[in-house]
Amino acid sequence: MHPFDYIRPATPQDAVAAFANAEAGARYIAGGTTLYDLMKLDIERPPLLIDVTAIAGLGEVDIGDERLRVGALVPMSTIAADPDIGRDYPVLAESLAKAASQQLRNMATVGGNLLQRTRCMYFRNGADGAFPCNKRQPGSGCAAIDGLDRGQAVLGTSASCTAVSPGDWPVALTALDASVEIVGPAGARRMLVADLYRLPGDTPHLEFSLTPGELITGIEIPRPAAGSGSTYHKIRDRESYAFALASAAVVVQRDGDLVSRARIALGGVATRPWRATEAEDLLVGQPLTIETALAAGRAAFSTATPGHHNGFKLELGARTVADALLIAAERSRT
Ligand code: SF4
Repeated sequence: MHPFDYIRPATPQDAVAAFANAEAGARYIAGGTTLYDLMKLDIERPPLLIDVTAIAGLGEVDIGDERLRVGALVPMSTIAADPDIGRDYPVLAESLAKAASQQLRNMATVGGNLLQRTRCMYFRNGADGAFPCNKRQPGSGCAAIDGLDRGQAVLGTSASCTAVSPGDWPVALTALDASVEIVGPAGARRMLVADLYRLPGDTPHLEFSLTPGELITGIEIPRPAAGSGSTYHKIRDRESYAFALASAAVVVQRDGDLVSRARIALGGVATRPWRATEAEDLLVGQPLTIETALAAGRAAFSTATPGHHNGFKLELGARTVADALLIAAERSRT
C-alpha cells in the first residue's frame, strides 16, 4: 500500500475545500469497505484520504409523510433493520438486508454504497499487469470480453467493458425514483440516483456523473403511493454474502385486478442499475399473472447482448423479474 495523508474535517464545506487543495487522486472515505480493499490491491493510490465521518448531520434518518430522507453516513444495517422502513419501503430494507455480510453492513454507509466499484475479477486482480482492463488503465483493453465472463453484464455493455454494477441498494433506489443530495465546489445540487451512473461506452473508467470534489450528503426517496407493493428479489450462487447473478427491485400499483403502474430496476445483469421500462410499459392495464409477469421479465432482456458464458442470465433474469412482480403484487392493495 502506498503512503497517504489523512484528515477528518468537521463540515461538508471543509471537506470540499480540502479536496480542492489536494493533489489529484484524493478520496473521501467513510466506512472504507471498498476503498481500503482497492488500496491494498494497489488499484487505488490516493495521496490524501478525507474522512467524512466527523461531519455532523449526515447520520440522520427522517421518515416523512411524503418522503424518506437518509443521511449519507447512516450504516446500511440501520436501514435494513428499521421496522418503519421495512413496513413502508420493503424494497429498500430488503435490498440492504441481502447485501454483503452483517459486519460489512454495520461498517458501510448508504452514501458510500452508491459508489461501490465493480467486482470484475480482471479489474480487481490485474494491477500487477497480469490482465488488461480499460476501467483500471484506460486504453489497455478488456480481459473479460474473451475471458471468464459468467458474471459479466448482458445489458448496457460496450466493446470496452462488460463489468456489472455490483450494488443492491442503488437498484432499489432507482426503482423508487430516489435522488441524491450533493455538495461540491460549485455549491449544492440534487441528482436522480438513476443519473448517477454512466454507461461504459469507450470511457469505462468514468463511472459516475459526479464532478471532482463532489460529496454525497444524503438520499431522498419519495414515498410509494398508498397501496403499492414492493420487493427486492436477489438470486446468487449462495444465499448469503454474495453478489447478485440477477436481481430485481419492483414496485407495483394496482387498480382492481389490473396494474396501473409498475416500476422495475435490475441488478447483477447490467453495467449500471437498469430501469426496465419496456417491461413496465407492458404491464400497464394487465392483470399480474405468471404469464404476464414472465412476459414482462422477458421484455426486460429484449436488448440484452450476452457474452460467451453468461447467456443463462437472460432466462434467470426474466424469472427473477417475474417472481419479484408476483411478490410485490401480493403485497399491494387494490
Ligand atoms: Fe476491466 Fe471492464 Fe473489462 Fe472488467 S469488463 S476487465 S472492468 S474493462
